[in-house]
Amino acid sequence: VNRQVIVGGSDTGMMAGLRAREVDPTTRPMLIVADAYPNFSICGIPCHICGEVPDWRRLAHRSLADLKAPGFELLLGTRADTTDPSSKTVTFTSPTGTSGQIPYDTLILGKGAIPVRPPIASLDTLGLSTAQHGRHIRPQPIA
Ligand SMILES: Cc1cc2nc3c(=O)[nH]c(=O)nc-3n(C[C@H](O)[C@H](O)[C@H](O)COP(=O)(O)OP(=O)(O)OC[C@H]3O[C@@H](n4cnc5c(N)ncnc54)[C@H](O)[C@@H]3O)c2cc1C
Repeated sequence: VNRQVIVGGSDTGMMAGLRAREVDPTTRPMLIVADAYPNFSICGIPCHICGEVPDWRRLAHRSLADLKAPGFELLLGTRADTTDPSSKTVTFTSPTGTSGQIPYDTLILGKGAIPVRPPIASLDTLGLSTAQHGRHIRPQPIA
């Protein structure tokens, strides 16, 4: 059995886990997810903000039951703190604040990125209209 630990429960983490199961059905993906909403459509957030999808719960690509059925284990509200390649372990902090360790055979980091904001003074004044999904964004003055 390939013990696969994945940090992150969004597009990267989910796709990695699903593909690993396709390639090797004995793989047991365990996802360490800092938030409580695995496999939500981040790309759909603008659709919720502009009212096209009033119920944000409908932004979930898969339910928890959908994810557990093929053998995914999920540690939600859990933050991966450190990884140690020599002992092949991940140290994490649980929702209650206690720390623990998980061993892995393979480790995938899908923890996203932090956006870089360009130094444009008027960015803060653009408002929600810049977040509307699939719609033309009106040009805004740039200071
Ligand atoms: C508003 C918006 C609209 C978008 N629209 C599109 C689109 O139309 N088409 C498109 O292709 N892309 C779009 N994107 C981009 C797309 O959403 C990202 O490329 C994608 O979400 C990246 O996925 P990811 O799994 O790499 O990271 P993220 O989605 O950022 O997920 C990171 C995951 O890691 C977890 N995490 C982070 N740190 C830790 C830690 N220490 N321990 C445990 N878990 C951790 C988080 O809780 C989360 O589950 C859009 C993005 C935004 C914000």
